[in-house]
Amino acid sequence: MAKKDRRAPQPAFVTLRDLPGTRVLFWVVDACPYCGERHMHVIGNLRDAEPVDALGEVPAPCQPDRAYILTVPPKPKRKAGKEERRRARRSGQRDSWDDET
Ligand SMILES: [Zn+2]
Repeated sequence: MAKKDRRAPQPAFVTLRDLPGTRVLFWVVDACPYCGERHMHVIGNLRDAEPVDALGEVPAPCQPDRAYILTVPPKPKRKAGKEERRRARRSGQRDSWDDET
């Protein structure tokens, strides 16, 4: 991705994760557009967190004066296995949570 404007926030692709046993949801930036490292952004409790609301521009943890835009990546292609598809579905729609209580 071209970096023509150094100050413009860059998109950062995220993966939705939860922490087994804790019900904490967070977005994981697998490759930061600035430092290439992985950053995690806690969304909140699985029960009442709204992952989509946590998307958008946030300060980059590694660059105090810059921001990036948390962005859900395009859907993965079909090469992946069942587990991968399940993950993609979970990040795409919220009615598939197994814990509705
Ligand atoms: Zn970074």
